[in-house]
Amino acid sequence: MNIAVDFGGTNIKIGLVEKGAIISKTSISAQSDTGLVKRLPVVKATIHELLAQSGYTISECSGIGMATPGLVDTDNQTILSINDKYADAIGFSFFEWVSGAFSLPLVLENDARAALIGETAYGVAQGETNAVLMTFGTGIGTAAIINDQILRGRHYQAGILGGHFTTNINGPSCNCGNIGCLEAQSGSWALEHQARQHVDFMGSRLAHASEINYLTIVEAARAGDRTSIDLLEDLISNWSAGIVNLIHAYDPDVVILSGGLMKSKKIIVPLLEERVHRLAWTPWGKVRFMVADDPDTSVLLGVSRLLERKR
Ligand SMILES: [Zn+2]
Repeated sequence: MNIAVDFGGTNIKIGLVEKGAIISKTSISAQSDTGLVKRLPVVKATIHELLAQSGYTISECSGIGMATPGLVDTDNQTILSINDKYADAIGFSFFEWVSGAFSLPLVLENDARAALIGETAYGVAQGETNAVLMTFGTGIGTAAIINDQILRGRHYQAGILGGHFTTNINGPSCNCGNIGCLEAQSGSWALEHQARQHVDFMGSRLAHASEINYLTIVEAARAGDRTSIDLLEDLISNWSAGIVNLIHAYDPDVVILSGGLMKSKKIIVPLLEERVHRLAWTPWGKVRFMVADDPDTSVLLGVSRLLERKR
């Protein structure tokens, strides 16, 4: 059995995984304002609680797999660069922490890569050997598998920077230093800024929303709010451009979509499919779209798969 930990920006998800199935899982607040390293004692205590509740001991575990956002050096098990509040973890030795706290083997991986590995090993895309994933959360994460090999690259950044493909050369500045990134125009963190740029923002129902996120825009658009309809069209164009870029770069058979936006999959996915099929250069046929069944578990399954391969 493996222990799996997914350090999200809002929640840290912890699971026990055996043979591609989640035995039990829990979630704790990330409290990412204070950084990642300060949460590790709580992560350790939560792992022990989860083991005890499930009737297991640490001696029955074969390894611990962890996933974080950002650029991860999977060989040295450190974070090289990260855009969000976990910046304190850059250079932190997860290997030393795990050795001291659990005496178990460790894998550390980027979260979108782990999600793609999880989905192709045990999830909706089981058996697919040429696949890309796009996950819509606070930012937009991506990953790619070509001929059954997960792409990491010389500097560990291959495949995972799809959220930072330029989709508008005159677009807003991104937190990565580039301009007009897909994420800076259509990631959750950018939505309020994008909405406020609309000429009719003050007349929109979004002006009265407590928070502007994917779901508030989709729901307001469905209710006929003109500003939200415009914003959603713009978002679909951006997300489609990102997916077309992934297809042109990595030549997949399937595109796996994941993350909070997929709560609105019935509305979003057909719009993306139509536009991507119309715009992508794929003379061999059509890329198939798939939606992750449970975005919360695909990362946990993915890091567990990496541990199994390591043995
Ligand atoms: Zn960027």
